[in-house]
Amino acid sequence: MAQLQKPEWVYIGGKIRSWDEATLHISTEAVTRGLAVFEGIKGYWNANSTEFGMLALPRHFARLQRSGKLLYIPCPVGYEEFEQACHQLVHLLHKPDRDMWVRPTLYVVEGHWGEGTVADLVLTAYHQDKTPPKAIDVGISTWRRSSDNSISPRIKTNSNYQVARLARIEGRRRGYAEMILLNEWGRVAEATGACILMVRNGKVVTPPPSEGRLESITVEIVAGVCNSLGIDFVERPIDRTELYIADELSLAGTLAELTPIRQIDDYVLPDDSPILKRVRTRFWNAVRCTDPHPAVDLSVVRPAG
Ligand code: PMP
Repeated sequence: MAQLQKPEWVYIGGKIRSWDEATLHISTEAVTRGLAVFEGIKGYWNANSTEFGMLALPRHFARLQRSGKLLYIPCPVGYEEFEQACHQLVHLLHKPDRDMWVRPTLYVVEGHWGEGTVADLVLTAYHQDKTPPKAIDVGISTWRRSSDNSISPRIKTNSNYQVARLARIEGRRRGYAEMILLNEWGRVAEATGACILMVRNGKVVTPPPSEGRLESITVEIVAGVCNSLGIDFVERPIDRTELYIADELSLAGTLAELTPIRQIDDYVLPDDSPILKRVRTRFWNAVRCTDPHPAVDLSVVRPAG
């Protein structure tokens, strides 16, 4: 069973506190209705472990605010305070042999049915291995991604992950590490916690957000990397059967990074993945700072004071 980490420190109520002190009352909307929006932010050590950089921090903050706006959840802090809090927490917890990811969550702590809504920004941070993800097998789920007129996939909110959880449970039964969700029209939306990249005829293709995927920051980065490598990057709807005959497939997400896909349902992908391998290598060299890239902006954590 997956062991969840319990880091020593978290940021809650505007301060760093111990893990055990970070609690919410059972009556809050965050508990009774699962009302919260969140982000996942990756932090990478550079190649010789002397500097720790958090990837695309301003873009993650902007998306957190957009998610909050669409659900009428106000964000109690501005960017400066947010960045400082992320740095403070990571600085307390980081270890040179591990990367980290930070989960900022806006929990609704006061209010009822959208009246008097007050949220608190909570930051938790977890260690991760520095190794790139290994290739995985994925399946296509029988569950569907919600539509823009119910809970929009554009909103990174807890409720959107109920279906993702069902798909993961279904996937485990069928022996798959990740699952692809189709949208309401039966076309490809995304995976449960990442977007999908497909290579056909030498082009990298992904569905646009209007097909039911999150407005992914990793996809934006991949578009920038493809552009600098002279690889065509296209956003267009993708049919289910196109995934089965794709030349290459990959997940794209903050935590999934660029996880290669080996098999989808019964269909095995070719062993060679020449185009996405170039993208992965360029991405990896940028986040490790051996070959910086303008699409890979890192907010470097320095000791306070
Ligand atoms: N889709 C879903 C449902 C996700 O949870 C994530 C991870 N945040 C992504 C896509 C990828 O988004 P990003 O590249 O911004 O991490």
